[in-house]
Amino acid sequence: MKKMLTAILLFDLIAGLLFLGMQEMRRYRSVEAAIIGEDRVEDIKKIAITFDDGPHPSYTEQLLDGLKERGVHATFFVTGEHAQLHPDIIRRMQAEGHIIGNHTYSHIQLTKNNREKFKEELIKTNEILKEITGEEVQYVRPPYGSWDKSFEKELNMFPVLWTVDPLDWCSKNVNCIT
Ligand SMILES: [Zn+2]
Repeated sequence: MKKMLTAILLFDLIAGLLFLGMQEMRRYRSVEAAIIGEDRVEDIKKIAITFDDGPHPSYTEQLLDGLKERGVHATFFVTGEHAQLHPDIIRRMQAEGHIIGNHTYSHIQLTKNNREKFKEELIKTNEILKEITGEEVQYVRPPYGSWDKSFEKELNMFPVLWTVDPLDWCSKNVNCIT
């Protein structure tokens, strides 16, 4: 549990740092767009920022403050367990225009032997989130990336994996991660 909390803290911290860097990049991109003209704007690369495992009672709020200040929207893949503990933070995410996705109830990993349990956790988390936000949950990030495509039809959910893993959870050295 302590290890997991440390991982969450680090994730939020590093995500925040990455996010500041990306803001600089965005600024550069807008200048670039102005120089090259509107017709090329579509060629400009975009990134989607996601945060997993929260909400955390203090660090997620700080992260939300940072996103708000910079006018950036992100996707938060939360566990049902943490959402139940901090429903106000989930409501704040929603009110500030962020997308909220399912990250299972207890951060369970799908294996060959626990398909039904995993599915139950997804359903339970969808119910918790719907109760808080009043909206259906469309996106799921399976912990550790283990997924079964047949859930997509069964639950009408889209999996969102990742293209860049900053590996921020495996080191406490900020310089090494960024
Ligand atoms: Zn996770």
